[in-house]
Amino acid sequence: MDCIFCKIMNNEIPSYTIYEDEIVKVFLDVNPISNGHSLVVPKKHFTDINDIDLDTLTHIQKTVKDLFIKYKEKLNCDGITLCQNNQYGQEVKHYHLHIIPRYENDGIELKSNIEKLDPKEIYEKLK
Ligand code: AMP
Ligand code: ZN
Repeated sequence: MDCIFCKIMNNEIPSYTIYEDEIVKVFLDVNPISNGHSLVVPKKHFTDINDIDLDTLTHIQKTVKDLFIKYKEKLNCDGITLCQNNQYGQEVKHYHLHIIPRYENDGIELKSNIEKLDPKEIYEKLK
């Protein structure tokens, strides 16, 4: 399979790896949103949240909890934002969780162009 993250997992493409075990590899994003922007990537190829199993997801979350402590200490960040794209907006079709270290007044925010519906209309669809 021609997957760039599988190649990083197999060390065919270099990466700045911060942490690695038998299940995940964490490396710095090549185009960071903030200093320390990292990707937590399962070694096995899963496409997205629908595809990945719960044991691996739990391991990813545990990895994030450990790294949060490390990033606070070593990067002196004020927090972390976690995000994970699925299908639309997902550039690399190998599951990955973004860790975006946050710094006071960093100006990072989510914006959109969509027409905002009344939350009641959405509630009626989702309840
Ligand atoms: P997404 O849009 O959620 O699929 O994010 C993919 C991320 O992978 C982007 O933030 C890219 O900058 C990052 N990326 C792509 N190729 C590499 C690479 N070779 N090494 C590190 N990060 C990469
Ligand atoms: Zn892959």
